Amino acid sequence: CGEFIVSAHKLDVGHPPGAPFFMLLGHFFSLFASDTAHVAMCVNALSALASAFTILFLFLTMFVSVCCQCVMTSVKNRLYLYIVINNPPMKELKDRILSDGRCFPGGILKVDNFINHQMDPALMREMSLELVRRFSGHKINKVITVEASGIAPAIMVGFYLNVPVLFAKKKTPSTMENMLTTEIYSFTKERTYTVCVSGDYLTKDDHVLFIDDFLANGNAALGIIDLINKAGATLEGMGFLIEKGFQMGGRSIRRMGYQLESLSIIDAMDAESGTITFREQN
Ligand code: 5GP
Repeated sequence: CGEFIVSAHKLDVGHPPGAPFFMLLGHFFSLFASDTAHVAMCVNALSALASAFTILFLFLTMFVSVCCQCVMTSVKNRLYLYIVINNPPMKELKDRILSDGRCFPGGILKVDNFINHQMDPALMREMSLELVRRFSGHKINKVITVEASGIAPAIMVGFYLNVPVLFAKKKTPSTMENMLTTEIYSFTKERTYTVCVSGDYLTKDDHVLFIDDFLANGNAALGIIDLINKAGATLEGMGFLIEKGFQMGGRSIRRMGYQLESLSIIDAMDAESGTITFREQN
């Protein structure tokens, strides 16, 4: 504006007064004017150049920030690939099974010093995060498990999904209202339990993820499917810490079409030599 041109030329304080640098530049440009008639043209040329540089700097800022983001994403992906290649998923769990698990006759694996008696919270956290990652494509509003050994992994998965965790009880409390029940044969205890949940906590609006420590013959899983069907809820998937691939649970549940994720699959166990063979998983 005229006032700015005059102020720049005379090195005055223009109004509004917050542009001293522009005034100094304006004065510098006005020095190139051969006479006062050309001062306005020189200061206007500065205005045009200043606007052009503003746009250039805006473009450079955006360009540099987009480039930085692309580089960061590519570095992150390469780092992730490097970690995955050098650390196949759940290597910690397999190493722990090999170091602390004990094979018993009848295909029973004892993991009671880190999973289902004494528990390792750090490993439990890693396993739960991996399960959450594998079911990230599902809209889950509840985690379900069977007492007792499924509760620890289930509650951690529920924590990371930020949803409530429901466990099927092996005793039927007299105070439970709206009770739904089913029968489950326990592979390790060699007996049949009646398990129950309250229909108040498992309803047709629920999208449920079943979590358990072991998948053996799949009886617990079938019992939970029955409870979910009785409640009219939807089963989104099933996640297990250890699947014993030499028993039939995994095969029959997968055939039913549910997403089933096992963090480790044991294909063979020899109680005599104590050898455990894992299935290769990606
Ligand atoms: P399923 O119902 O699939 O036959 O057996 C699963 C349940 O039995 C799990 O909840 C788990 O508590 C128990 N279970 C099955 N196999 C084993 C095993 O080898 N070791 C341990 N500790 N528990 C097992």
